[in-house]
Amino acid sequence: MNRFHGIELHPDTATFLARPRRMLIGGEWVEAASGASLPVTDPASNEAFCHVPAGDAADIERAVAAARQAFESGEWPRHRPVDRERLLLRLADLLEAHAQEFAELEALDNGKPVMMARHVDVALSIDFIRYMAGWATKIEGHTMELSVPLVREREFFGFTRREPVGVVGAIIPWNFPLLMAVWKVAPALAAGCTMILKPAEDTPLTALRLGELALEAGYPAGVLNVVTGLGHTAGAALAAHPGIQKIAFTGSTEVGKLVGKAAMENMTRVSLELGGKSPVIVLDDVDPAVAAAGAAQAIFFNQGQVCTAGSRLYVHKSRFDAVVEALSGIAAGMRLGPGIDPATQIGPLVSKVQQGRVMDYVNSGFAEGARAAAGGAVGDGPGCFVQPTVLVDVREDMRVVREEIFGPVVVAQPFDDVEEIARRANDTPYGLAASIWSNDLSRVHRLIPKIKAGTVWVNCHNIIENVMPFGGFKQSGIGREAGRSALELYTEPKSVIMML
Ligand code: NAP
Ligand code: MG
Repeated sequence: MNRFHGIELHPDTATFLARPRRMLIGGEWVEAASGASLPVTDPASNEAFCHVPAGDAADIERAVAAARQAFESGEWPRHRPVDRERLLLRLADLLEAHAQEFAELEALDNGKPVMMARHVDVALSIDFIRYMAGWATKIEGHTMELSVPLVREREFFGFTRREPVGVVGAIIPWNFPLLMAVWKVAPALAAGCTMILKPAEDTPLTALRLGELALEAGYPAGVLNVVTGLGHTAGAALAAHPGIQKIAFTGSTEVGKLVGKAAMENMTRVSLELGGKSPVIVLDDVDPAVAAAGAAQAIFFNQGQVCTAGSRLYVHKSRFDAVVEALSGIAAGMRLGPGIDPATQIGPLVSKVQQGRVMDYVNSGFAEGARAAAGGAVGDGPGCFVQPTVLVDVREDMRVVREEIFGPVVVAQPFDDVEEIARRANDTPYGLAASIWSNDLSRVHRLIPKIKAGTVWVNCHNIIENVMPFGGFKQSGIGREAGRSALELYTEPKSVIMML
């Protein structure tokens, strides 16, 4: 199995695919306890090309026990911060040495263009691991001067420590499989936690390969466990397990709420990175060509399967027609193809299910009176393609405007009044991100505090940075990943008060 869609795979990718794929529990590569497996599908052809174990509650049980043991005894608790830093740096080096293999696995499994996988998913993952490695040696507490007015005759000394939260469960989505895994694995391991990682059913391959590299880097058995399996079995068992101290989830708001409720039952710490319906706001001083290129990148990047996708485009009415025309031109000119083909600009969506979901939204838009200025249909062949789509003649009450589509579909609307636009931008249950396009500094600065979103971009969109906290307002989630905040998710403060 070394050619897909006429493209020859890197020998390492072919070797990985030729090996039997088991999951990683307690340093061993194991089958699911049930013996069941799941097919892994290439969304460009909609054909299965390999299998992974279908782990379920019994396997989660084993993995939590292994992670608990690794957290409490053995080598891992004896690792000093500098040892944890060195292991993460080694893991990053290994990932870099296998960058093309990871990019190809991601392209085959998720459908995304291989060049994007290489320069975005894999490159950002390597950088993020290195960034988090640095934090391992910078976990700090404070010393405090205490008053204790009731006991004036004695002196007191107070300090705080930040301790690893414990055993962590991570449940990740299929849109950026490796990067979302790394966003959770790296800070957890930097902090000294141990982890059970459950990748999405649709995209399990890079998480398994990451598990192999972690063993090669020298992580002790049980520090990182990878259990492949379904969300409602393995995922639900992990979220509800009383033996974990924290659950980190990225995915839909609907499942995020289930995970949050299950976690609350055991007071498990929880962070949720959920959906979005992010506005792109173009003011009247912007060149329509610049705005259209920005809006295209905001929505078509990763086939629109991005939690921060700029899926609602608001353009000042003086520029609306010009921006929509230029954006539609870009959409119509994009080359659809298999992700593994380096010439591809838009790959298939992740699955037939996702293609169906996205087309249901597009068709609901048509039924309610929307019109496609570009796209509006599936692509040719058996793959899970959807044409890059620009919908106009939409109203705020339509489902295509209100709900997260998670595909290459943008709804474009004109606006009149810059004072009004913040209200319209915020008229959504979500609050993950927004972008403002203008060079009028005063108007931009006046808008920023009015936008209810975890990230506001100005004259750019979908720029993710290691040092910046990332997460959502409102129903887009709880907690912030990346930056210093990521470490706080995986540590617990402890106050120490000493009477001297
Ligand atoms: P999802 O169901 O939220 O899946 C995310 C992760 O949660 C996957 O690993 C999934 O496993 C797991 N999961 C599913 N049900 C679970 C449960 N009851 N308990 C614990 N874990 C569970 O997302 P999806 O079905 O792949 O996509 C649905 C929609 O979610 C998309 O159309 C999109 O709107 C949104 N989404 C958002 C993001 C984001 O980054 N914000 C990412 C992905 C999807 P399985 O894959 O095995 O089911
Ligand atoms: Mg797949």
